[in-house]
Amino acid sequence: MLAFWKKEKIYSQVKQANAEGKPFYFCDGPPYATGQIHPGTAWNKCMKDAVCRYKRSNGFSVRAQPGFDTHGLPIEVKVEQELKISDKRQIEKLGVDKFVEKCKAFATQYIGIISGQFERCGVWMDFDNPYITFKDSYIDASWKTIKAAHDKGMLHEGVYVVPYCSRCETTLANYELEYGEQSDPSIYVKFKLSEAENEYFVIWTTTPWTLVSNMAIMAHPIYTYVKVKVGTETWILAKDRLDHVMGLIGQSATVVGEISGKKLEKIHYEHPLKGKIGKEHARQVVLSDEYVTLEDGSGLVHCAPGHGPEDFIIGKRFGIEIYSPIDSTGKFTRDSGVYHGILARDASAKVIEDLKAAGALVHEGKVTHRYPHCWRCKTPLIFIATNQWFISITKLKEQMLAQIENCEWHPPFAKTRFREFVSSAPDWCISRQRYWGIPLPIWKCGACSHLKVVGSASELPKIAELHRPFIDHVKFKCEKCGASAHRIPDILDVWFDSGNAVWASLPEEERIKYPRADFIVEGKDQTRGWFYSLLGSGVVLNGEIPYKTLLMHGFFVDEKGEKMSKSVGNFVPLEEVVDKYGADAFRLWALSNTVWDDLRFNWNEVKESHRALGTIYNLGLFLSRFYTAQHKPALPGDAELRTEDRWLLSRLAATSEECTEAFETYKPHVAAKAVRQFLLEDISRFYMKLAKQRIDEDGEGSPAMAVLYHSIFDALLLLCPIAPFISEGIYQSFFRKYERKESISLFGWSVADKKRRDALLERRFEIARDISTAIANSRQKANLPLRWPLEEARIVSDSTEVLSAVEHLSGLIESLSNMRAVKVTKQPKTEVSATINKAKVGAKFKRDSPAAQSALEKVPAEEIAKWLSGDDKELLLEGKFAIEREMVSVDEKADGYSISQFEGGRAFLKTEMKKELYEEAMVREVARRVQLMRKEKKLVESDKIALHIHVEDKELSAILKHHTTALASQVNAEVVGFGSAPGGFSKDWEIGEASLKITIEKK
Ligand SMILES: [Zn+2]
Ligand SMILES: [Zn+2]
Repeated sequence: MLAFWKKEKIYSQVKQANAEGKPFYFCDGPPYATGQIHPGTAWNKCMKDAVCRYKRSNGFSVRAQPGFDTHGLPIEVKVEQELKISDKRQIEKLGVDKFVEKCKAFATQYIGIISGQFERCGVWMDFDNPYITFKDSYIDASWKTIKAAHDKGMLHEGVYVVPYCSRCETTLANYELEYGEQSDPSIYVKFKLSEAENEYFVIWTTTPWTLVSNMAIMAHPIYTYVKVKVGTETWILAKDRLDHVMGLIGQSATVVGEISGKKLEKIHYEHPLKGKIGKEHARQVVLSDEYVTLEDGSGLVHCAPGHGPEDFIIGKRFGIEIYSPIDSTGKFTRDSGVYHGILARDASAKVIEDLKAAGALVHEGKVTHRYPHCWRCKTPLIFIATNQWFISITKLKEQMLAQIENCEWHPPFAKTRFREFVSSAPDWCISRQRYWGIPLPIWKCGACSHLKVVGSASELPKIAELHRPFIDHVKFKCEKCGASAHRIPDILDVWFDSGNAVWASLPEEERIKYPRADFIVEGKDQTRGWFYSLLGSGVVLNGEIPYKTLLMHGFFVDEKGEKMSKSVGNFVPLEEVVDKYGADAFRLWALSNTVWDDLRFNWNEVKESHRALGTIYNLGLFLSRFYTAQHKPALPGDAELRTEDRWLLSRLAATSEECTEAFETYKPHVAAKAVRQFLLEDISRFYMKLAKQRIDEDGEGSPAMAVLYHSIFDALLLLCPIAPFISEGIYQSFFRKYERKESISLFGWSVADKKRRDALLERRFEIARDISTAIANSRQKANLPLRWPLEEARIVSDSTEVLSAVEHLSGLIESLSNMRAVKVTKQPKTEVSATINKAKVGAKFKRDSPAAQSALEKVPAEEIAKWLSGDDKELLLEGKFAIEREMVSVDEKADGYSISQFEGGRAFLKTEMKKELYEEAMVREVARRVQLMRKEKKLVESDKIALHIHVEDKELSAILKHHTTALASQVNAEVVGFGSAPGGFSKDWEIGEASLKITIEKK
């Protein structure tokens, strides 16, 4: 099918057909081009494809250009691995130009592979013209946003405490942090008060290395602190933490006084590692009501403003130096004293040792906590103070929050979640100290620090490409003082790249046509990723949110709900699924999942979808085999339609309505389920039973054939966005010769024919199906197979809805259930017996249970049955025993009947089976089939035949052998033989559950 689409350029044809239609700009959230795609990425792409296909079938001119995210650390890390290097110095040695070249080659090699994977999933996008973030045109467009931020006074440089990966030697954005379990030391430390003998503050930390940069202690102004005697010393800590801390060290303490947190302010203390650390500073207690809690620690919080975002805020507030003696490789600098040269986190052990030696360690333990790691290399991160570039989200926040309202959110809680994230988002740190990315277009004067921000490549002299290192050589003369201005060597956060996708992916001339994307859809993690970077960039550049409708989907996880990844070993490659069951099975399965819920991978469910497609395929096969006329069948007028025809056409209209509504409200899963239900349940499992019989009898001219043709064709139009391969496949192999167009995708959407809707009829059919199921249950109970015709089933019900359904559709129920008569009657005489569950009675009534039981025994079984079939939860006996439903059960029996329940009533199947009736029926069944074959061979009545029947079913075989003469006379056979035939015209048939091969030959 892929080859056919390619060869005949079907996708282009569909686009061409809609060229004049209303524009619909879908903006693709670009997947990262680092390797084979995750099945979740395929789910995401298929969802996009389904929506775009729906829009196309509704006449929209859909812009669907796939994108690829190609910059950033993930690719740098892969290339480092390829080159077997691991730090920045080695990159510099190799040459940044060579490194960047490698990165580009790496990203490029996967673009083709990934596109092929998507295409194999049936995704229709402009794969021969994707947008790629490393292209100069893309970089150029992204710079506009930086320039706009600068012009609006939102771009600034500053010292900030940021998460930092010492391996990758770069800062990370908050949304890039990956939290994982981490085991760390948990220590309590004494800080001696400067002005008092033998008095100490007790603090707690899980990052001992940050004590080197301790600059203050935080106390809560309104908490109560206690002074306690421990041995000869006096310790100060929060009252509510005293028991916990003393419990840890196994010592007792005597409280000698209480003091409010406020009173601790400005009390000076000494650093316990004085002499070893480099920093001298008058350290004291400061107050904070937001960062001190009583949940853990001692209620006194160690504050290192250079190593924590909260500490940083406190440092700024109280004018404390942001001290951070860590270099770009993550090691302590000379400033730090004796820790010089040690990697930050590795210094914790030495710090603990030194504290012990200084007698300042109160307690040492371990803690396992959630700690941020680098999302690429998994190294635990550290917070350090660095010089970075920011976009002042704080200045934009109100506008951003207001713009959130300027978009349609699906599901609504996506909006709530996003608002929360945006409300608390800090300034956006956009600079990264790496190589492969969009260069920061900022030049700074070496003399006066004046900034020049470039908003377009046209402002630069001609260079080979806009990447590093080429751009690093560009220098400007300062506009203010004439000195030389150098580029800030940083590159942009890779999220900034995709954040510009809405306009940077468009060629210049299309940017006016598409100021905003009509639709985007991504996973729920993107509330802090792409949804956010798009909003930020959009508001900076154009003052508005760059997307009009947003759909958020769940995660693709394993069967247990765990993230699927190669390292965990629960990863299922997309290829494996597609090779085994086909792309449509994957699509039908994945797209049936409620969009915003996580999609749990499950082989059985994929297999189930595959089987469903098989059933749908068989519908096409049936049409191919039994409809051979020159022209497509016209749908007959109402007078010729039977009830079941009107019902199926009503169901078709209902299904189109449901699918339309589902796509319009961005719930593809509702459409997937509705169309699947229609094809499988309504057509294949229900209507086909009746239709086959009619087509057998009346041939391909039967109205049933026309209804079937029409319904299947329209259902395929509805199925096409979900499962395009099978829809096209059935179209090509059967419908195309009648419908003429080159592809099913060149037809419009199947719009519901509202006149055909008959809700009452649909409801009656539902009831009729329920009743047929009940009769089937009764048959099973009485061991009476469906192919045995039975005389009568009585329907007993109080519901007028049920009664009128039976009245209108008794013929249908009779033929579905193979009954001579199905009728509403009075209930046959039954005997009801009640069984008491003594254990349950005993459990509730304890000592009174004998009395309760005998009260219950006195109630006639009919009355109990009546109560149980009603809505009352309890049955009150003798004014004191409230009998519950599970305390008693009833069993109903009627002589000569098998009883089954359905919603709203009961079916009484008369079990008496007349042997002759059955045998006669079987012979007639066979004879009818032989007649059809005679007709097919154009035999006239007087033509004699030789008849051979091969049948495995022992019972049927016995019957036929017993009635050979009757059979022979009904079909004008000279000979009737059993077993395999010597030759002639053969056909396979089914009668009920038995299959047989009939062979006829003209004598
Ligand atoms: Zn890293
Ligand atoms: Zn200057």
